Amino acid sequence: MRLVLFGAPGSGKGTQAAVLKKDLGIPHISTGDLLRAEIKAETELGKKAKSIMDAGQLLSDDIMLGIIEHRLGEPDAKPGFILDGYPRNLAQADALDDVLARIGQPLDVVIKLEVPNEAIVDRCVVRFEKEHRPDDNPDTVKKRLAIYADQTAPVAAFYEKRGKLKIVDGVGELADVTARIKAALDGATAASA
Ligand code: AMP
Repeated sequence: MRLVLFGAPGSGKGTQAAVLKKDLGIPHISTGDLLRAEIKAETELGKKAKSIMDAGQLLSDDIMLGIIEHRLGEPDAKPGFILDGYPRNLAQADALDDVLARIGQPLDVVIKLEVPNEAIVDRCVVRFEKEHRPDDNPDTVKKRLAIYADQTAPVAAFYEKRGKLKIVDGVGELADVTARIKAALDGATAASA
């Protein structure tokens, strides 16, 4: 199963991916987590990424493509993967299509988690207090939501046109949202079988 979990920052993609990866037996590939690991390890990339991430901006498409291409080429991604945080704009969606076509592993489905902005801001406040992510401070969350609306949201239409988009209500208990995602995945698998 090759899956993209799509949605605004704070929509629950990471939390759901952590559950789904166990059930599906495929890795959770979060570009945000990969970048945070680079920052922690104080690599050149990490140093470059930190100020951009802290400001709630996006890294360049070139850098991101290098990261994702490398990660998708690792052996554990052969049976499938859950992408979280990529693609974040139309250029990245195109680039991902190209990479996956080249390795003969097209996406099966894109799950879009829908959560209203007010709930997102509340969730990020909780995460800010718990995880101290600098980009979860309320002002930066507002900037990230604006970038999402402007650059990332149009990616949903890109996948809808290709018949790959499933929309899931991301509000509610964690287990309820997981169940909705699984139902959407079952539907997608049945449709492509
Ligand atoms: P996330 O954990 O997915 O919210 O990502 C945290 C931050 O990492 C984002 O606000 C961006 O600064 C950066 N980032 C993660 N994924 C991407 C991407 N696909 N393109 C550009 N920047 C990204």
